[in-house]
Amino acid sequence: MDELSLIRDADSRAAAYLGGVAGRRVFPDQSALDGLSAFAEPLPYRGRPAEETLAMLDGVGGPATVTSNGPRYFGFVIGAALPVAAAAERLMLAWDQCASSYDNSPVAAVLERQAGDWLLEALDLPREAAVGFGTSATACGLACLAAARRSLLARKGWDFDRQGLAGAPPIRVVVSETVHITVRKALRVLGFGLDNLIIAPTDEFGRIDPDRLPPLDDSTILCLQAGEVNMGEFDPFIPLIRAARVAGAWVHVDGAFGLWARLSSDAMRLTAGVEGADSWTTDGHKWLNTPYDGAIAICRDGHALAAAMNSDAAYATADPFAQKNLTLEFSRRARGIPIWAALRTLGVEGISAMVDRHRALARRLADGLRATGFEVLNRVVLNQVLIRVAGDTDDGTHLARIRKAAEASGEIWFGPTVWRGRPAARLSVSSWRTGEAEIDHAIAVLAHLRETV
Ligand SMILES: *Cc1c(COP(=O)(O)O)cnc(C)c1O
Repeated sequence: MDELSLIRDADSRAAAYLGGVAGRRVFPDQSALDGLSAFAEPLPYRGRPAEETLAMLDGVGGPATVTSNGPRYFGFVIGAALPVAAAAERLMLAWDQCASSYDNSPVAAVLERQAGDWLLEALDLPREAAVGFGTSATACGLACLAAARRSLLARKGWDFDRQGLAGAPPIRVVVSETVHITVRKALRVLGFGLDNLIIAPTDEFGRIDPDRLPPLDDSTILCLQAGEVNMGEFDPFIPLIRAARVAGAWVHVDGAFGLWARLSSDAMRLTAGVEGADSWTTDGHKWLNTPYDGAIAICRDGHALAAAMNSDAAYATADPFAQKNLTLEFSRRARGIPIWAALRTLGVEGISAMVDRHRALARRLADGLRATGFEVLNRVVLNQVLIRVAGDTDDGTHLARIRKAAEASGEIWFGPTVWRGRPAARLSVSSWRTGEAEIDHAIAVLAHLRETV
């Protein structure tokens, strides 16, 4: 098969998949999972025909996908892919740009710069900040935290790039009791040591309690959250960032999905003051509904991020703000292009409508579940609904059976979690495809399973 026939074949298979995405099982059935053993082939010495490889991928792989791109998937905060973002991504793949710098791809550099400017405006963050498009909030957070440490050390006269960590002035890190596991990972990889993290106690909603904030100083990185993953709550940014400013600490905000509440008509108040931080991360691939993967690192002092992530040879003409100098990646795909396409097509109004719609759907889900004998553990200020079964055992055996049965039904999928040391389950509303019908269906499925399993 020639190149264009093969690409057309892939496009038509992709279209067939997407055409059926609303009706597909959400989690693959056992026969589809068993079918994956067909991939356990010996590495061919003589290559196989391209069309056969594609047919196998579609025929064996397709049925074993999790339909997280569909309307009845409530796991984590995964989000579907907006049509325009998915379509722009396909075009970008045909271009196959290495989007490291303007020289490698002028179009990628221009579009990512534009998308970065739009993001700062949409999220109402300092317009002078640098914006890097990385793989994930994990990687973007790591980049921001590296910039934070490097900057705090520089203020102490320590050249981290040359001198490294041995003998460096100590940097303290304060994180929330409910800090996301990937922020802990980034800190661990950066060498802070999990045992050295200073834990800030939280209130009943999982927000840092400003009255019990550990002491801060000018050698402290304070990690805050916009959108805690279970409760969907926000740290009280105004008093916390004020305390950090007074102390000279660096504030980093993990806003993987919650930062998009900046565009919600009434949830925006939950993010008040967040613009005063030093760095922020958010994802495209979660609540903005752009395809996997694409995330955003934002740093008020652009030079701090550009210096920490710098990968230039010492060329006089190098652009310090080229994407290869703002993210962990050097060679990279143009992740900002589907994000640009989503921002342009939704506009501020479209994003805020999506965020508000998901919040209303999450409240509808919570009300419906409460009415059928589930305990809703959170206030549902955002798009997360955290549940237990009323009267369940401490280890949540009934809930676990319900979750497994829901998965086996193929009707809906949602994940397990632990809240305050006890098992719970979490449903997240974050797909543009999800509407009231899917919410009501999820309530009905769960009500039925609660009675029968
Ligand atoms: C998902 C998530 C992350 C990590 O984001 P990735 O893009 O998956 O790396 C960090 N923090 C929070 C609150 C999240 O929900």
